[in-house]
Amino acid sequence: MKADIITIFPDFFRGPLEYGITRRAQEMGLASIQVQDLREFTHDRHRTVDDRPFGGGEGMVLKPEPLFECLEAMGLAPREDRVAGRVKESVVLLSAQGQRFTQKVAAELALLDRIVLVCGRYEGVDERVADFLADRELSIGDYVLSGGEIAAAVIVEAVMRLLPGAVGNEASTQQESFTIDAKVKDSVGADSTCGSNGLLDYPHYTRPADFRGMAVPEVLLNGDHQEIRRWRREQALKKTLRNRPDLLEGAALSDEDAKILARIKAERG
Ligand code: SAM
Repeated sequence: MKADIITIFPDFFRGPLEYGITRRAQEMGLASIQVQDLREFTHDRHRTVDDRPFGGGEGMVLKPEPLFECLEAMGLAPREDRVAGRVKESVVLLSAQGQRFTQKVAAELALLDRIVLVCGRYEGVDERVADFLADRELSIGDYVLSGGEIAAAVIVEAVMRLLPGAVGNEASTQQESFTIDAKVKDSVGADSTCGSNGLLDYPHYTRPADFRGMAVPEVLLNGDHQEIRRWRREQALKKTLRNRPDLLEGAALSDEDAKILARIKAERG
């Protein structure tokens, strides 16, 4: 996969993308990341990328010309082919007004050959970029950042760890929070701890078994795999109900899950 990031702060990415799995994916040749300085596509002495908004109002807006020129120089397929899915390329505008970036979207992007991430700044980006240049707008959450750079780093990290081979143990990316993986669901069933099936992950513990009087749950030490599986599923259900009850609606729940959930709710009163 190739990821291009367009930004007015290319140095921002010197740290975030050079560690862990993102670095590993690049070293293994699974991914390459190019950071493009938007100011290289300006033609004036001051390398101007922003201007005042028509109609008045606060702040400055990123101009369309450098962004269009930058994208045109990248040799991408025409927008209509990208949007129709005829090519495995996507141009993403980072925006607080975009659709929510989720694990599902990360999995969709991980299937592409190329993603281009456009980082906004100031009051945002001239709307013609969203309307005629980008294929989709993505937001990493309901809050406003000062620029798209952190959002781009979040998306690159979430997508690259899903590339086959990027994470040492691939099964681990299939059993994580939010993941509904068709392969896992079909092969092991909705009641398996091999897939979170849309819930939050179950709790993890490691040595020591007793740390300052805080003991690891006994069930994890007894080697009974069926019991461990049931316990983990119950904990995942409990945590999801407590922290993210909205996820229960889209989760793949088995009959056993439904019974456990009913019991948890009854116990909570
Ligand atoms: N005026 C915009 C609004 O109210 O929605 C906010 C602009 S923000 C200060 C500047 C840039 O930061 C945006 O163009 C976008 O690229 C980025 N940004 C801010 N919040 C974001 C979010 N939640 N997700 C993705 N990008 C974001």
